[in-house]
Amino acid sequence: MFIPLKTSAQIAIMQKGGRILANILSTLGKEAKAGITTGYLNKKADELFTLYKAEPSFKGYRGFPASICASVNDEVVHGIPGDRILCEGDLLTIDCGVYYQGWHTDSAITVPIGICNVEIISFMKTAEKALASAIKIARPGIPLGDISAIIEKTVHEKGYSVVHDLTGHGIGEKLHEPPQIPNFGKKGSGPILKPGMTLAIEPIITMGKRFVETKSDNWTVVTKDGSLACQVEHTIAVTERGAEILTKNL
Ligand code: MG
Ligand code: MG
Repeated sequence: MFIPLKTSAQIAIMQKGGRILANILSTLGKEAKAGITTGYLNKKADELFTLYKAEPSFKGYRGFPASICASVNDEVVHGIPGDRILCEGDLLTIDCGVYYQGWHTDSAITVPIGICNVEIISFMKTAEKALASAIKIARPGIPLGDISAIIEKTVHEKGYSVVHDLTGHGIGEKLHEPPQIPNFGKKGSGPILKPGMTLAIEPIITMGKRFVETKSDNWTVVTKDGSLACQVEHTIAVTERGAEILTKNL
């Protein structure tokens, strides 16, 4: 499997784009309240893309019609923003990609709308913990399967499921590059991480069973059993020092 390696200069550009993305997501996270629509968040994202002189990676990607994916409750990924009104207690995942000076970065956050019950918060925190534990172990010399395995373990320990049909991925000049990064797998398997790899790691988890289906809009993926789902994601660079998160604020 050919996994493109990036120079430190190229990673530095991705980091600039990644910081823009972090700013966009933190703004959208604060804007996400009961009573507003997911379409409003997309409009807000577009204003920020203009402000930061960056382009949305998702808009037009295989025909996707918006700059963010907004997935609510049982929607797993690829929710199309529109006139859906967010309600108190909803769980919203906002996924966004930035294309900046020729390079993509990809990140997602999950935010509770208003006050959610503790079980929902614990579910959301489990996805965040899975991502953090994967990033913590990512360094040159470890097999990719270790990342998959630690995500799966962190999620299963809490009794939740990981979706098998949707994966993380390499990222760079293209939004999706090799390797695929499943959220389940065997420790010790897969390609060995090397400095210069840039990876979008994205635990995608459900409160019930792991099975998903695509709705008739051909985009929105939902859980088959109607259980809650969420996704969190960062783009990282593998460096000699370990993993550097590119999609975070300074
Ligand atoms: Mg994403
Ligand atoms: Mg991604």
